[in-house]
Amino acid sequence: MSKNTKAVVKKQAKTKASTKNTSANNRVAANYVYAFGKKTDGNATMRDLLGGKGANLAEMASIGLPVPPGFTISTEVCGYYYDNGRTYPASLSKSVLKAIKQIESQLGKSFGGRSNPLLVSVRSGARDSMPGMMDTILNLGLNDVTVEGLAEISGNPRFAWDCYRRFIQMYGDVVMGVQARSEEEEDPFHEILEKMKRKLKIETDSDLSTENLKTLVDQYKALIRKRTRSAFPQDVFEQLWGATSAVFSSWRNERAILYRQQYAIPAEWGTAVNIQAMVFGNAGDDSATGVAFTRDPANGEKVFYGEYLINAQGEDVVAGVRTPNAIAQLANELPQSYRDLEKVRNKLEKHFKDMQDFEFTIERGRLFILQTRNGKRTGLAAVRIAVEMQRERLMNQETALLKIPAESIDSLLVPVFDPKALKAAPVIGKGLPAGPGAATGRIAFTAATAEAETRKGNKVVLCRNETSPDDLKGMLHSQGILTLRGGVSSHAALVARQLGKVCICGASEIVINYEKKTLTAGKVVLKEGDYISIDGSTGLIYKGMIESADSEVKRVLEGSLKANKSYTYELFQTVMSWADKYRTLNVRTNADTPAMAKQAVAFGAEGIGLCRTEHMFFDGERIDIMRQMILAADEVQRRSALKKLLPFQKKDFVGLFKAMEGRPVTIRLLDPPLHEFLPHDDVVRRQLAEKLGVPFDFVIDRIKALHEENPMLGCRGCRLGIIYPEITEMQARALFEAAAQVSKGKKAIKIKAEIMIPLVGFRAELADQLKIVHRVAAEVMKKHKVKIDYLVGTMIEVPRAAITADEIAHEADFFSFGTNDLTQTTLGLSRDDMGLFYDQYQSKEIYNQNPFASLDQTGVGKLVDLAVERGRQTKPNIKLGICGEHAGDPMSIDFCHRAGLNYVSCSPPRVPIARLAAAQARLRNK
Ligand code: ADP
Ligand code: MG
Ligand code: MG
Repeated sequence: MSKNTKAVVKKQAKTKASTKNTSANNRVAANYVYAFGKKTDGNATMRDLLGGKGANLAEMASIGLPVPPGFTISTEVCGYYYDNGRTYPASLSKSVLKAIKQIESQLGKSFGGRSNPLLVSVRSGARDSMPGMMDTILNLGLNDVTVEGLAEISGNPRFAWDCYRRFIQMYGDVVMGVQARSEEEEDPFHEILEKMKRKLKIETDSDLSTENLKTLVDQYKALIRKRTRSAFPQDVFEQLWGATSAVFSSWRNERAILYRQQYAIPAEWGTAVNIQAMVFGNAGDDSATGVAFTRDPANGEKVFYGEYLINAQGEDVVAGVRTPNAIAQLANELPQSYRDLEKVRNKLEKHFKDMQDFEFTIERGRLFILQTRNGKRTGLAAVRIAVEMQRERLMNQETALLKIPAESIDSLLVPVFDPKALKAAPVIGKGLPAGPGAATGRIAFTAATAEAETRKGNKVVLCRNETSPDDLKGMLHSQGILTLRGGVSSHAALVARQLGKVCICGASEIVINYEKKTLTAGKVVLKEGDYISIDGSTGLIYKGMIESADSEVKRVLEGSLKANKSYTYELFQTVMSWADKYRTLNVRTNADTPAMAKQAVAFGAEGIGLCRTEHMFFDGERIDIMRQMILAADEVQRRSALKKLLPFQKKDFVGLFKAMEGRPVTIRLLDPPLHEFLPHDDVVRRQLAEKLGVPFDFVIDRIKALHEENPMLGCRGCRLGIIYPEITEMQARALFEAAAQVSKGKKAIKIKAEIMIPLVGFRAELADQLKIVHRVAAEVMKKHKVKIDYLVGTMIEVPRAAITADEIAHEADFFSFGTNDLTQTTLGLSRDDMGLFYDQYQSKEIYNQNPFASLDQTGVGKLVDLAVERGRQTKPNIKLGICGEHAGDPMSIDFCHRAGLNYVSCSPPRVPIARLAAAQARLRNK
């Protein structure tokens, strides 16, 4: 599911989840355990209950894919667990026992038995996959007795002891909490292992002998005893429940919480626990484990993509400890298994109708599938896969559109390295291209440094041997990520794809020394803080800073690149044309200059929804005249300054009208408190006094007089035009004069002007301003003998306006929701002052997302709904739009569609996202 869809269903999900948990408490003989294997209880539609992993394991089992048998403990139990002081429903242990028996009888093995022991994995699995965020334990069921049994029945003691040492390490880490105690410290198990390898002078784990592994087991056990003062448990059911609780507990670990915030996943969802018979990729050289994607998740190309390790267990591939082989090589090493795998690849895509990311293990030549899910992909890949799958008739246009997270379109538009600068830049290494795009920044060797540097305003590239889930925060703060170990399914690659970060991994020729804080590539030695550049599309690494250039799409839109020379543009165009076909919301832009307007039109804007006229007053000599106007002691002085401003303003409007070529243009009259235009520092104030030929003290006095305790709620918006009608008059005149000029002559443009009065809360306020606008309009039209098509409307940005929208609608031709101010005034919260508590509010999950980034639908949204309803009561055809920053946010756009608005108006770069989001809103809410 895409991020947007997810967020939209979130509200419903929340209520569902809470009722569900209580019903789980009350139910007598509830079903908490769902088997998969010979007999399968679940299917792919049951994600809410079984989690994504469990639901898909069930689905795969039932379509005949080779899935080791197992069962899922439902997410309801997670809810119960947290609601009841981390305990379980009474009936659970019986159901689990029964399910274990089922596996035992299918495989002829016994859990805790000596002769043919059953081993299981205990795995987390939330509704939406949260890769690496929660815990997994493999080889559970081994103890000092069963390990001997496994050795005998497999005829391979080395393998049995390899499993045992792995199990103790995972169990010790995840369940018993034996971990590194600081960022500098190595993982203690890893340290013991490395020490042994150094002593024995061996390179890889698979070179450890049975005796070595036995020693390792003893050392691990001793470590656990030393750290926890208790022994590693020998009872297999104690192990099972310990692991189960650890997985449920990991739902609330720090990184899982952070991840949920990032992806707006509600805490109530909970995780399921999957318990599944082990299959062994570490049973010898005819065994392997790997991860594969049915298409390339970095660029979307239809190639079999993935990697594997011979004689290894799952975690080895994902953890990035050994750099695995590319999947194509398996065709040589284990040809039959490769053919089997190709078949699975096709079957999965045909069945799930989306790019799949799946895990497999080959045990002595026999293939097993352990997981499948819709693969996380970069924005670019999301677009390409959707378009190509539609062409292959795996899905129709509607489905394809819904498969593309609206924000992904952005990754087709982000800057790339400037081709010229790139040619001149020194290449210092190469790795696997894992997250496309161009990133330049200072080297940071730890997540903490990355975060600290970014907070200082520096751009960083995080460079590490490998990343782990604890690095998530630092990765979020980096421009790009470079790792030396691990392949395209390593943690770094996975996260980068998901966050849309530029990433190169497995750059094995580079050496990082964390202590000396150096990165060495051949003869080049870089220090922390030095610049490095990485191209995540080619995998090339460069020394120094490289300038960036416009994306191919932008170059085509500007005309500097031919459309048929760019596949990226073809993808962009295809998706945009589909989007336009399905959406009913219009998309406008917020633009103040002809250049911005032109860019927005190239991106598909159908009008201007907000032109902030005040931005036009900051340029060059205008600011001086503006200041003169503000400092004026009386109306006469003010009018004389306004007269000088008029030609500038008119010229700007002419430019805008021309750039928009007859599309509607909404112009908002002066809005901010006047003091915003005045200089803050005394030197400039003195210069200003000189320029205006007034005493310095006079300037100071006026500034004092204009001071407001709370300017956001002070003399601004329509209040300005009401106390200084001459300002409204000048702006209206400039606008109609401009319209008159542009609508005459050879290249006449038919103008659609919309004048917008800000911060209205009373019908009388709007009426007051309306009179001025209509009078000036009539004067100008008469003078120039033209008819200008114009509307006058208001912003709805204070609660009173929304509540009295029926009254205000008598005066207004349109409403435009200014949801920035409406959020501030509804929440009683200043956007500029939320820094002190915002982080806490987020970590306490009081705010699921920033209310200024995504519309607070349950609060502010109610006011919007109310205003829409009341406005239309008075005037059924009233035009309705939104011009707050929310208009570029897909979730908010979905809301706007449902609220029945006519258009959204966002910043120019977000126009393509808004077009796509608008189409998705329509398709989702059909
Ligand atoms: P994550 O959700 O972090 O990927 P998983 O639960 O998928 O965690 O497990 C981690 C690794 O363990 C995967 O590589 C998976 O293939 C492997 N694994 C899990 N269960 C089994 C099993 N029953 N037999 C063999 N390997 C397994
Ligand atoms: Mg997995
Ligand atoms: Mg406002």
